[in-house]
Amino acid sequence: MNKKNIYVTQPSLPPLEEFIPYLQQIWDNKILTNGGPFHQKLEDALCEFLGVNYISLFANGTIALVTALQALRIRGEVITTPLSFVATSHSLLWNDIKPVFVDIDPNTLNLDPSKIEAAINPHTAAIMPVHCYGHPCDVDAIQKIADNYGLRVIYDAAHAFGVEDANGSVLNHGDLSVLSFHATKVFNTFEGGAIVCPDAKTKVRIDQLKNFGHVGEVTVVAPGINGKMSEFNAALGLLQLNYINQALGARKKIDIAYRERLVGVKGITCLGDSGEKVANYSYFPILVDINYPITRDELYQKLKDAGIHPRRYFYPLISEFPMYRGLSSAHKENLPIATDAARKVLCLPIYPDLDMAIVDEISSIILAQ
Ligand SMILES: *Cc1c(COP(=O)(O)O)cnc(C)c1O
Repeated sequence: MNKKNIYVTQPSLPPLEEFIPYLQQIWDNKILTNGGPFHQKLEDALCEFLGVNYISLFANGTIALVTALQALRIRGEVITTPLSFVATSHSLLWNDIKPVFVDIDPNTLNLDPSKIEAAINPHTAAIMPVHCYGHPCDVDAIQKIADNYGLRVIYDAAHAFGVEDANGSVLNHGDLSVLSFHATKVFNTFEGGAIVCPDAKTKVRIDQLKNFGHVGEVTVVAPGINGKMSEFNAALGLLQLNYINQALGARKKIDIAYRERLVGVKGITCLGDSGEKVANYSYFPILVDINYPITRDELYQKLKDAGIHPRRYFYPLISEFPMYRGLSSAHKENLPIATDAARKVLCLPIYPDLDMAIVDEISSIILAQ
């Protein structure tokens, strides 16, 4: 029995004393929000670190998703994945858009491009895929479909901070990509989020929408929201960036350790990458199938009994929640792969400060069944 509980993740924080001078600056200049100096600096630093052209910071990822849809004036129907955090689809409902669920690829657990075309109709305006667990979607296939049908693509990239494919940041694909800097994510600003966009004009519109639609002192051009990131969060983000490479390196070690220990265990598959050049090891999902001696939920309980709290990300599927299950695309028969994955998946603890002895303990519980 562990003396303390081990959760699926634990937020990374810099040494507190290093944050004090940042707070001192905020106290000194009395700029707390509204695009202050730390906000500006963090946008610049993130463009540089991530290798993207324009970024607009937000109070959280969910408001960024809602705003991304408004920035592109998306209406009607949007094709999306049922295997995600519920905020993905909720951002559609907040815009009065009808989500259309399409099944996933069994190898990557991302939206399956070969299933998208059958779901397109004259009301379809966009595709909202998710780089689930930080593994990139088949961005080329998705873009090809979008181009053929004149659809926009907004990636929910909440899991994909720092992920790169052969062409650089995975955030440069599609029309927009949305990040989350929530406490549970690879890079956190306590709460926070961002929209990555390819051109200055789109950034201007996004920046207006996150500030009530204000343009200057006396003009309001859109029913915008208050989605701004505060100086407190932006300052923390700047400090966090000093430690991000160290954090990603530590995550990689844990990923390798789990794979070594779980290789060849009958009925357990460690989800592989989807061809990324630089991974972020944001999650460690395993799939527990019928060849394993006990069910996924029994294993989940065994680990909990030992003080270890994995998570069944993402179970239930979004399409099973009451506000979605009435949609015809939400029916199980339409989503056999996602339904199967949601029954099998279990995300094991992974975070930079996770002790290797705990990785050993978790692995031996899995091996002992
Ligand atoms: C965390 C998350 C969000 C929401 O981000 P918040 O910053 O918590 O609002 C959206 N989509 C996915 C896939 C997420 O994991």
